[in-house]
Amino acid sequence: MTNQIIKQRRGLACMSQEDRIRISRLGGIAAHKDGVAHEWNSEQAKDAATKSWANRTWATCNVCGGRTMSKQRRNGGVVCRKCL
Ligand SMILES: [Zn+2]
Repeated sequence: MTNQIIKQRRGLACMSQEDRIRISRLGGIAAHKDGVAHEWNSEQAKDAATKSWANRTWATCNVCGGRTMSKQRRNGGVVCRKCL
């Protein structure tokens, strides 16, 4: 007997993208119906965005002087993606 492992997609992975989107949407709608979904207001959204940006590490590109999140280094300095 061969011990063949057949890789099989299960659950959400065996569905088409449209199906997954449809099902995900149902979850969101249900959460809002139950009143457990998070309701964003502009103040919270601003706060979340600020936090998200604060966690990024910026560097200055050695070539163009622009700000970059790139970790690429060349000639002892950080180089942005455009200047690589
Ligand atoms: Zn640059």
